[in-house]
Amino acid sequence: MLQQTKVKTVIPYFKAFLRNFPTLKALSLSKESKVLKLWEGLGYYRRARNLLATSRILVNEHNSKLPKELINIKKLPGVGDYTANALSAFIHEQPTIAIDGNVKRVFSRVLNKNENEIDYKKLIEINKTNLLETKRNSDFVEALMEFGALICKPKEPKCPNCIIKNMCKYFKSDKKFQGTKVLRVKIKNYNILCYIDKMKKKIALTKKNNLGFLDKFYLPLFEETQNNEKKKNWTFHSNFKNSISNKKLNINLYYKFSFKIPSQYKWFSLKKNNEFIPTFTKKIFKKILK
Ligand code: SF4
Repeated sequence: MLQQTKVKTVIPYFKAFLRNFPTLKALSLSKESKVLKLWEGLGYYRRARNLLATSRILVNEHNSKLPKELINIKKLPGVGDYTANALSAFIHEQPTIAIDGNVKRVFSRVLNKNENEIDYKKLIEINKTNLLETKRNSDFVEALMEFGALICKPKEPKCPNCIIKNMCKYFKSDKKFQGTKVLRVKIKNYNILCYIDKMKKKIALTKKNNLGFLDKFYLPLFEETQNNEKKKNWTFHSNFKNSISNKKLNINLYYKFSFKIPSQYKWFSLKKNNEFIPTFTKKIFKKILK
């Protein structure tokens, strides 16, 4: 839940999730629709699906335990390099480090080098004996992340109080590196086309979008456009910007009053829906039906 999401936002979701699924087995036996409902509003819904799929694999194939070997942890749905290393350190106390943005910054400051000049895997391998000589690797990995978040912060690191300032090249150097430039996220243009039943206050949604993000969810029709060009034969409603997952979208919203809809569509109202619909779709409802 905490991937790309703040702790404060996650806490009520996490508590509700544990109330509903107190064990891994309880989660594995759940329907996907229930898991998504409990995730509603958190976004990045692929995480919920992967978590459910992972719980089923762990219960059915690994006796409800996390596999020991990194290679097998990485086979679980949604588990990449970072998560696999974090799990291996936190759960099995394995000598490994999960490299997130905070950890990268700490190393790059200590070496006074840009992040993209550092081969982190090699760096850890070379310094394995010094870095990982502990029986409490889970605490060490957590501490490293927290150190980056609280002391060696992105802006105004707390150098005077830092316990490793004597070995930090950034602190000691007159020529401090200026930080790694964050790549700008490219904005994509979309037309969103809504069939509306005005009398019943309903919108037709479809799962036929092939977006990559928000995949297999009920949405109005998305059409990617190259030059923000307008859509013929539809009524323009408004333009707005939206971020979904790590995408930034520039959206032109269109509608058409209709009682008949193409076969892949289903009518939805804002309130009474048994099926899960993402927060983004609800936002469109509010905009277009007000
Ligand atoms: S001395 Fe400053 S820059 Fe260096 S590790 Fe400590 S907080 Fe980070």
